[in-house]
Amino acid sequence: MAANKKLLVLPGDGIGPEVMDEVKRMIDWLNGQRRVTFDIDERLVGGSAIDAEGAPLSDATVERAQGADATLLGAVGGPKWDDLPFEQKPERGLLRLRKEMELFANLRPAICFDALISASTLKPEVVSGLDIMIVRELTGGIYFGHPRGIEDLPDGQRQGINTQVYTTNEIRRVAAVAFELARKRQSRVCSSEKANVMESGVLWRQEVTKLHGEVYEDVALTHMYADNAAMQLVRNPRQFDVIVTDNLFGDILSDEASMLTGSLGMLPSASLGAADSSGRRKALYEPVHGSAPDIAGQGKANPIAMVMSFAMCLRYSFDMTEDADLVENAVTKILGEGCRTGDIAGLGDKVLSTREMGEAIRKAMAELAA
Ligand code: NAD
Repeated sequence: MAANKKLLVLPGDGIGPEVMDEVKRMIDWLNGQRRVTFDIDERLVGGSAIDAEGAPLSDATVERAQGADATLLGAVGGPKWDDLPFEQKPERGLLRLRKEMELFANLRPAICFDALISASTLKPEVVSGLDIMIVRELTGGIYFGHPRGIEDLPDGQRQGINTQVYTTNEIRRVAAVAFELARKRQSRVCSSEKANVMESGVLWRQEVTKLHGEVYEDVALTHMYADNAAMQLVRNPRQFDVIVTDNLFGDILSDEASMLTGSLGMLPSASLGAADSSGRRKALYEPVHGSAPDIAGQGKANPIAMVMSFAMCLRYSFDMTEDADLVENAVTKILGEGCRTGDIAGLGDKVLSTREMGEAIRKAMAELAA
């Protein structure tokens, strides 16, 4: 049997622990099948860590995250901690985790399940079968560049400044993630920038092209200006496989792409860091949604975003393609059979609780694996 996989589990606040419970049960099932053995280390993050440990993320938890093969996070935050100073808020725990782990590549898939096609704002024929991945550079670019600030001008006006800066290495490492992902998908990468009006875009295009020629010629590479990419995402999103782009354009394009698929309760994400000498990348997997205080503790949360984040973990951190497929196929199956939580239910649909939805997915996994 393969060596144990070290997984750090951080359920967090609000619906975080509820949706994480369904993943923990799934892990128990996988362990029971002896498909693989996970060593689970569970710790606090966010508001629950503030209450118990005095800070949203303890040094000990950071250390565990650095040593784990992958980290799964539920969600953080809630009204109880809203009035704390900015530096002490639950969300700081998440930001610190991303920073300390140097997670520079954010992966957001946009998959349209046929059974939920009516939840998309686009026509069924445009989104049917949609499966794209947006890779956003997460630690550089205009959100971090200097100079920045707001200054007074001699004529009495004020001036706001932000600076888009990218180095060769920052571009190459995120492009490498995109090329490697594409090799596990349809082997197509579209790199997006504004090389027509920005020098940083010119450099981005040059470096991506250079890296492609050096290492990834087996992957098809195209380039697209970011404004055109925004338009093409709603015109014909299926033309894309993997899109790689900078922090600013990625922020916008990944939100746009996520709307193609419907509910927040369906959207997983991954954030990856640099590979070490053994090829292992630091990695954090989490749903896109927050702690949803309005439905927390009521068994109403949709666990699919968390479950699909775990599937990404199996695929990208552990190379367990078969098990990742099993999880994703089980989700497709139960949606096809009409299983719905409140957020994705139509008029007249029977609404399942978080636990019932988790159980339905695990049952489908058992059936598909039989
Ligand atoms: P949210 O994502 O928590 O909720 C937005 C809406 O979507 C709510 O109506 C909620 O009920 C619904 N929703 C979200 N996830 C759902 C799910 N799995 N199933 C069914 N419905 C779901 O965003 P918000 O309300 O703006 O923020 C609430 C708290 O979460 C805040 O404290 C915020 O700072 C925090 N937050 C955390 C993260 C994170 O941990 N990554 C991300 C966003 C917001």
